Amino acid sequence: MTQFPLDRFAGLETPFYYYDLDLLKQTLNKVVEQKNKYGYHVHFAVKANANPGLLAEIREAGLGIDCVSGNEVQCAIDNGFDPQKIVFAGVGKADWEIKLALEAGIRCFNIESLPEVEVINEIAGAMNKKATVAMRINPNVDAHTHQYITTGLEENKFGIGLTEVESVVSAIMKLNNIELKGLHFHIGSQITDMGAFQALCTRINELQKWFEANKVKIEIVNVGGGLGIDYEHPDQNSIPTFEEYFNVFHKFLELRDGQEVHFELGRAIVAQCGTLITKVLYVKEGKKKKFAIVDAGMNDLIRPALYHAYHKIENLTSKAATEQYDVVGPVCESSDCFGQAVVMPQTKRGDLIAIRSAGAYGEVMSSRYNLRPIAPTIFS
Ligand SMILES: *Cc1c(COP(=O)(O)O)cnc(C)c1O
Repeated sequence: MTQFPLDRFAGLETPFYYYDLDLLKQTLNKVVEQKNKYGYHVHFAVKANANPGLLAEIREAGLGIDCVSGNEVQCAIDNGFDPQKIVFAGVGKADWEIKLALEAGIRCFNIESLPEVEVINEIAGAMNKKATVAMRINPNVDAHTHQYITTGLEENKFGIGLTEVESVVSAIMKLNNIELKGLHFHIGSQITDMGAFQALCTRINELQKWFEANKVKIEIVNVGGGLGIDYEHPDQNSIPTFEEYFNVFHKFLELRDGQEVHFELGRAIVAQCGTLITKVLYVKEGKKKKFAIVDAGMNDLIRPALYHAYHKIENLTSKAATEQYDVVGPVCESSDCFGQAVVMPQTKRGDLIAIRSAGAYGEVMSSRYNLRPIAPTIFS
């Protein structure tokens, strides 16, 4: 449970991101303890948070990194991760990004189309290297999550469709500088229904039979990430249910001898340890509601505006009787709203507000829209 050091906060300019490194460590301990039960490999999806302070803890815990851009590959290397623990996904890898990853000697490219793997083959050939790849297959499994963060349905842009698997595999077999070693999946994000992961296992089992029958040896089964967190109860459920999660794969995934299982978790590792701390600038009485206007905006945390995401909002400094507020930022967009009808103690100018569970897809998505500064980060 995050305890906020209010005396320390009092002297600081707002807004800022506050990271509870003790909670991050406890979360990582849990991940490591649970994955080690089954010998699983976990790569942290660095697109969720690339803050060097967090990456140092994640590296210390022994996790690898899952990247979706060349700069993320570079970031992982700059932060001391072993290139052999780096995997690289993404539908639109540019030539320079492919070169950079080959130069670094990453473990695996998660390839998303035939034209892409042909380009990787060409670039690897010119560099006298071989690229290890895993095929990202779109398993057409519904993750039962928000439409913007579901990725494993036929209509999504990600991965190779089930009907194309056969033709893509035979085309890859003809490429001299590609070694097909794995299968890769990622069905979406903020998934709390373990049934979705069970359905993924069933689909993988079917595919494995096809690969076996066709004598294509699969060494790596990468099941992606997507485990959700409890945005409503960040204190009661500060650490996600890793035990239950890994157990689903242990129970339902049918593996062949020597196969490694890889995971790519982002949100579940870092979301709960981060909080956006902001100050109330004004309380404005509207005709029908009250607005608490804060000094953080959608440029600092875009999730509510982008996906209608819920974040728990707390007034850290008032103990008065509760009222309802729309908590909004200063950016000139109506979507710059962190929460509607939020029940908080009576709020006044100068109060400190915590926007919880902001450690994933928060700081990393911040922008300078309205030419606002990038919020700094503070560690526990
Ligand atoms: C974003 C992403 C992840 C991580 O997703 P989370 O929901 O944060 O766990 C994993 N793998 C790939 C390929 C991704 O794009």
